[in-house]
Amino acid sequence: MKKNLFIAFEGIDGSGKSTQVRLLKDRLEANGHKVYTTCEPTDAPPGKMIRDIFNHRIDGDHRTIAALFVADRLHHILNKTDGMLKMLEDGYTVITDRYYFSSYAYQSPHIDQNWVIQANSLAAGLLRPDLNIYIDISPEISIERLNKGRTSIELYETLDNLRLVRNKYLELIDVFKGEEKVFVANGDQSPEGIANDIWDTVSAMLQ
Ligand code: ADP
Repeated sequence: MKKNLFIAFEGIDGSGKSTQVRLLKDRLEANGHKVYTTCEPTDAPPGKMIRDIFNHRIDGDHRTIAALFVADRLHHILNKTDGMLKMLEDGYTVITDRYYFSSYAYQSPHIDQNWVIQANSLAAGLLRPDLNIYIDISPEISIERLNKGRTSIELYETLDNLRLVRNKYLELIDVFKGEEKVFVANGDQSPEGIANDIWDTVSAMLQ
């Protein structure tokens, strides 16, 4: 069985993705795996433009953001320096903090859902996660955590929007259940508790 997996973490802001990426990386490395962690938006130019829009440094429409994510994602997959396909070929387990389910969930409340799915079909055809891990928390907990850790609020980080995004995640995980392997983790527990649930699923895939 393939031992270097491609894993995508998903969830609303503050759900604990980056915390769990770190904990999963540590466990995999302790078990002898080479691990490459990465995230979207990336640090490449389309990703930087997305961040500038999120931080209100430049103005941007939802359609522009959706298209930038498509470009950023293809570069993330295909570039020959540290693209995810290359890292997988080099034997790394690749863990990304956000992938195309984020586009589905964040953009679909604002623009045509079928367009978003279609525009990401190239990425899905090139590189489908062996496992998507969706960390589920309530939008109320998300806002509480974000308010603790941040001084400014980004474009999508309002309670109303996070409610829409969470509902979209749950809806689309169900729509794609035939094509995508998704583990839904209960994010309303300690970081270690969530990490243990995730490890049960990941380690079973490594048998
Ligand atoms: P994300 O990457 O999904 O935005 P983070 O991992 O950065 O989320 O976590 C957001 C905030 O919540 C951080 O301050 C982090 O320390 C805290 N946090 C993460 N996981 C938990 C948890 N299980 N319980 C309580 N707080 C958490």
